[in-house]
Amino acid sequence: MSIQQLETDYLIIGSGAVGMAFADVLLTETDANIIIVDKHHKPGGHWNDAYSFVTLHQPSSFYGVSSRELCGGMIDKIGLNKGLSELASGAEVMAYFDKVMKHTFLPSGRVKYFPMCEYKGDGKFSSLLSDTSYEVKVNKKIIDGTYFKTSVPATHTPNFEIAKGVKFGPLNDLPSLTKPRDGYVIIGGGKTGIDAVLWLLENHIDPDNITWIMPRDAWLIDRKNTQPSRDFFTHTIGAQATQAEAIAEAENIEDLFNRLEKGGVLMRIDPNVRPQMFHVPPLVVKSLSNYAVLKILCVKVA
Ligand SMILES: Cc1cc2nc3c(=O)[nH]c(=O)nc-3n(C[C@H](O)[C@H](O)[C@H](O)COP(=O)(O)OP(=O)(O)OC[C@H]3O[C@@H](n4cnc5c(N)ncnc54)[C@H](O)[C@@H]3O)c2cc1C
Repeated sequence: MSIQQLETDYLIIGSGAVGMAFADVLLTETDANIIIVDKHHKPGGHWNDAYSFVTLHQPSSFYGVSSRELCGGMIDKIGLNKGLSELASGAEVMAYFDKVMKHTFLPSGRVKYFPMCEYKGDGKFSSLLSDTSYEVKVNKKIIDGTYFKTSVPATHTPNFEIAKGVKFGPLNDLPSLTKPRDGYVIIGGGKTGIDAVLWLLENHIDPDNITWIMPRDAWLIDRKNTQPSRDFFTHTIGAQATQAEAIAEAENIEDLFNRLEKGGVLMRIDPNVRPQMFHVPPLVVKSLSNYAVLKILCVKVA
């Protein structure tokens, strides 16, 4: 086993959005040297493992590092996001972070990047491909870019039992199906579950053949209220004003959510079920409520 000694001002663990954004600001605003370590082979963090039809859930212009735009501010002309600012696909996000690394970070001469390496703590990391280990003398700080512990279905183990004979998998598997199924059961009511349902519907699966299991319904943000351009000023700033008014005037939490719904700030998928939680990813809810025929089972998934 070989051990290499390195020295740097900042050691950043993780080249996901957080590690990349932090390194970008250091590069722009200081003259510090940086080492970035990641288990993945490319920058972009969890986007390396995402399903092929993933997109951002909010406009691309809100995402990425400060020194480089992710998108040119285009408005989508077709699809469920029609009329709203484009949402970068997972592939676009990956290509973007690759460019930031190759065109900005590495040419600066101040960043050393160690992909396919696992941080072990105490300034030490090891290659996942060879028996080389590294010990780093850090002059300023070690930055934990893994703090949010983002977890995606492709990389975590389900916390429920799967009955024998059931074909089970992460939604990454959907595009590689080659023969029709009797039915599809989606587990989970977050952005990923919603994406799976929409993908099936867009691919002309009869709603009667989709069962959606979620622990509880969620309040959702209307994406048109989170748009960056002047054209959406009334929606975006209007929603902020409505929210402030609702908070000031509400008599209790129940009343607050009633006011937010009435003011168009929050929405629900099923008008007959009162949501019990709040979800951040903004959504074009009409895209789902159009399919009200979907059987929505609200069961607790242990
Ligand atoms: C499907 C999906 C869509 C999303 N859409 C949006 C959106 O539109 N807008 C938005 O703002 N947010 C969005 N998010 C939230 C998203 O989690 C964050 O925006 C961001 O990508 C998270 O970045 P991160 O750097 O914190 O984590 P990660 O992307 O998980 O990066 C952490 C990195 O650390 C590495 N790592 C971990 N442990 C070690 C170790 N011991 N040694 C070496 N490396 C290690 C991992 O390999 C990984 O590459 C979305 C999330 C998901 C799952």
